Amino acid sequence: MNAEIIAIGSELLLGQIANTNAQFISKQLAEEGINVFYHTVVGDNKNRLIQAIETASERSDLLIFTGGLGPTKDDLTKETIAEHLGLSLVENEEAMALIEGYYEKTGQTMSENNRRQAVVFEGADVLANNNGMAPGMALHQDGTTYILLPGPPKEMQPMFMNYAIPYVKQFRGDDSLIHSRVLRFYGIGESALETKLMDLIDAQTNPTIAPLAGNFEVTLRLTAKCQTKAEGEALIDKLEGQIFERVGEYFYGYDETSLSAEVMQKLQDTDHTLACAESLTGGYFGHDLTKISGIGQVFLGGLICYQNDIKRDLLKVPQEVLDNEGAVSEKCARLMAENIRSQFGSDYGISFTGVAGPNEMEGKSPGTVYIGIASEGGTNIYPLNLAGGRNAVRSRTVNYGLFYLLKELKKGE
Ligand code: ATP
Ligand code: MG
Repeated sequence: MNAEIIAIGSELLLGQIANTNAQFISKQLAEEGINVFYHTVVGDNKNRLIQAIETASERSDLLIFTGGLGPTKDDLTKETIAEHLGLSLVENEEAMALIEGYYEKTGQTMSENNRRQAVVFEGADVLANNNGMAPGMALHQDGTTYILLPGPPKEMQPMFMNYAIPYVKQFRGDDSLIHSRVLRFYGIGESALETKLMDLIDAQTNPTIAPLAGNFEVTLRLTAKCQTKAEGEALIDKLEGQIFERVGEYFYGYDETSLSAEVMQKLQDTDHTLACAESLTGGYFGHDLTKISGIGQVFLGGLICYQNDIKRDLLKVPQEVLDNEGAVSEKCARLMAENIRSQFGSDYGISFTGVAGPNEMEGKSPGTVYIGIASEGGTNIYPLNLAGGRNAVRSRTVNYGLFYLLKELKKGE
């Protein structure tokens, strides 16, 4: 089954919005093992939409449309497809009741064109819209499957996942399952990771290995074609074992997790608390952690000690250390981590000091960073030499801090 996604909307062609619907749908279809060979974008124009449908139906057997299902005059997706396929349009009772109910509840008066949203192809499956008014549609005609989805992502995404995917699956002509797992790595570049796994990647058939470089991290998606979920899990487990033998030290989590989410989980599991002292990261670490709800149970807080006087007066780093070794030093990182831990009374204290750049500091080049992690078992210092501009250095510092902390938490388990 070969799919084509046709996004309708002049605002896409004008560059006012990005075609994130095509991205989302493609990603989901890939997980189902359905090929997507074309993305088409067409404006709110009847003739050009007809041309797009004609071209698409010659080369694809699953056509997924998004946008133009609303009540306004520029929303012409349904009418155009109906006319092209020779389908009649009928009012759908459930959709109409939903629209009327909305207007009754909000006390607004319904304008006549809102009725248009409840109109569907006769004989099509109606896909319920649980987050808006215009229903979607699914139709199989002459060997081609047509799916119509609304434009707004918050309406389109759940409709696609809950109703369109199950509809499409019945025509896939292959009852095998696609099972996949994402492995996330930190502290190793994409090319280094690929080099270490080269022979596995070259030999891949089932499961397949797809590397992807993300935001300062690398992921591998392992995808197995299988008859049962258990069979898929077993195939992936085996390959994962081979991968971990080589690059397991860089692995930090599965699927849609993040370094900060993993750190929180490990702190909770081990019943430990954390405090931070941030110099070059200026609050970035705390910001990253506090994006996650529930972090308050384990993260006590921190100090942004950007200037040396603050390191000395509040964090009690002795002036001699700052004068002799410098703020960007192993010694300073150690004292910052130990002192924040004792002052806040946390189980772990983490510190960040370094040169964000672009200029040198204390004779040290940009990217020179020390991370300290203090705990009951002692203090470890992680020196780093990071590449990149000022903010890349700061982001990477935070991520390395999370990564090393995670390793220490795992060791302490
Ligand atoms: P409505 O009932 O809101 O009019 P609709 O189904 O008619 O929905 P459009 O009018 O085409 O859809 O688009 C509505 C909004 O949905 C757009 O302003 C845009 O924010 C979003 N949208 C539409 N198409 C896409 C797309 N391909 N990718 C991301 N967002 C989109
Ligand atoms: Mg619209």
